[in-house]
Amino acid sequence: MIDCIFCQIANHEIDATIVYEDEEIIAFEDIDPQAPVHVLVVPKKHIHTLIDLKENEGEILEQLVGVAKTVAVMKHVDHRGFRFVLNCNPEGGQTVYHLHAHVLGGRKMNWPPG
Ligand code: C5P
Repeated sequence: MIDCIFCQIANHEIDATIVYEDEEIIAFEDIDPQAPVHVLVVPKKHIHTLIDLKENEGEILEQLVGVAKTVAVMKHVDHRGFRFVLNCNPEGGQTVYHLHAHVLGGRKMNWPPG
């Protein structure tokens, strides 16, 4: 999508600090980190929200989870612990409408989340 910031990052049209990339997925440092480790894991295909993910696109979620695990290992938070967050729609806290997951770590996470 032309006006989508994450599509632009995925297409290398705007800068981001990329930590992982393959054919389907890109992962980059969040521009406004909420923890010492805060990486966004993003499918290159534009999907608006989790709710818009079609039944035959379940493989994308598997890829997101797989790359999130890879990022956790790369960032050395796999054994300390980390949080995998996927915000959906306004009350879920979504602000960028291109499906993405957050990998947050490097500090103790709070529960319940705000
Ligand atoms: O889940 P949510 O949609 O709120 O997350 C969007 C995330 O994208 C925010 O954490 C924000 O800091 C990040 N962001 C970014 N680079 C941009 C625009 C937003 O890392 N250019």
